[in-house]
Amino acid sequence: MTIITPNYYKKFKCIADKCKHSCCIGWEIEIDDVTAQKYKAVTGDFSSRLNDNIDFGESPFFKLDKNERCPFLNQNGLCDIITNLGEDMLCQICTDHPRFRNYYGDYEEIGLGMTCEAATEIILTSAEKTTFNIPSDALEMPLINFREKLFNVLQDRTISVDNRVDKMLALVDAKLPNNDWYGIFSGLERLDNAWDEYLVRIKDGIDTTADTALDIAYEQLLVYLIYRHFLDVQYDEMLKERVLFAALIYKVAKKMNVSNTLPELIEIARLYSSEIEYSDENINVLLSYLEN
Ligand code: SF4
Repeated sequence: MTIITPNYYKKFKCIADKCKHSCCIGWEIEIDDVTAQKYKAVTGDFSSRLNDNIDFGESPFFKLDKNERCPFLNQNGLCDIITNLGEDMLCQICTDHPRFRNYYGDYEEIGLGMTCEAATEIILTSAEKTTFNIPSDALEMPLINFREKLFNVLQDRTISVDNRVDKMLALVDAKLPNNDWYGIFSGLERLDNAWDEYLVRIKDGIDTTADTALDIAYEQLLVYLIYRHFLDVQYDEMLKERVLFAALIYKVAKKMNVSNTLPELIEIARLYSSEIEYSDENINVLLSYLEN
């Protein structure tokens, strides 16, 4: 299988104790069977802690504490499994996070998910255009080929991002429906109440000014959205809707970013990712409202 990644992929490094929104808090983490067996085989002082804090039932998982923290996340923000047993002893999910993987034919596409603040910062602060190591034979595949056209439109820095989005929608002959997006987003499953503070900002709609100050960051956001979600057209044939989805999230993020600053956009993108794109259910609800 050929692996495709964006050019910023190798820049990622977990910032661990400096992370303000650790992925070790608030998420139930399942442990793959191979790692669960390794944990069971650990001997010495650490083994009783492993046994006390892992549910080794049918689908093993870490038992979160009352504050929803992973029991191995210590007060210094570091992972006690790494400090006691080494990085090789992390389970598959912890090793992978915040990476996501998509499959298309013989290709495996890997990216950094924006639910991680360190990954989001890398993506949205990159000044250079995002590129991907897509082999020439993959470019001949219809969906990948069409996605290249979308990337080219989104990365045309001779025009504003607003105009690029219009051109992208024209490519699929689609228009964003004038829905009550505040009501729709508010009705989705919620993880973090911080998202509510941003949602109220779209109460009067998602029309934005033509400000272009953060155009490169918004371009990176749009390219990320298309890279991460467009190829799922292979499963649901929602081509127009998946292009509209990227346009919708762009408009929502821009409207929410009232300070018009990069740090606020990074926080909005991180929350969007945690709230929306890690839930197939939420994505499907939004796609259904975009159905043409
Ligand atoms: S969210 Fe990202 S930076 Fe923070 S602890 Fe997880 S992987 Fe590390």
